[in-house]
Amino acid sequence: MRNLRHRGSFAEQCLRSRIHSLGFRFRKDYRPVTELRCAADLVFRRQLVCVFFDGCFWHGCPRHFRVPRSNSAWWLEKIEDNRARDKRQTRQLRTRGWTVVRVWEHEPIERAAGRIVKALGTTS
Ligand SMILES: [Zn+2]
Repeated sequence: MRNLRHRGSFAEQCLRSRIHSLGFRFRKDYRPVTELRCAADLVFRRQLVCVFFDGCFWHGCPRHFRVPRSNSAWWLEKIEDNRARDKRQTRQLRTRGWTVVRVWEHEPIERAAGRIVKALGTTS
């Protein structure tokens, strides 16, 4: 788990520098909408695009999330809550005119970068 999170943040760094090298500027770990208590990992204020990096474990990836053997009921509830929160936040941002890109930890960096650039291109 600790390992996965670490790898996640490394992939996140690679993706960030990739986007940066393409000339896009963004804020890190920033609240796109002040009244929503939700910080996105990358926020492009001009284009109204925000990006979330979702770890496969904590965000309950359909491909990789496995319920831990001990305290499984507790974990299941915890991860379900996280998934519900992710959905809610995405919806709240979209209704306010934001384009939301959610990137799974397992997603290849080039593919994720492509999706982000596409979102930026269609809104500018
Ligand atoms: Zn995954």
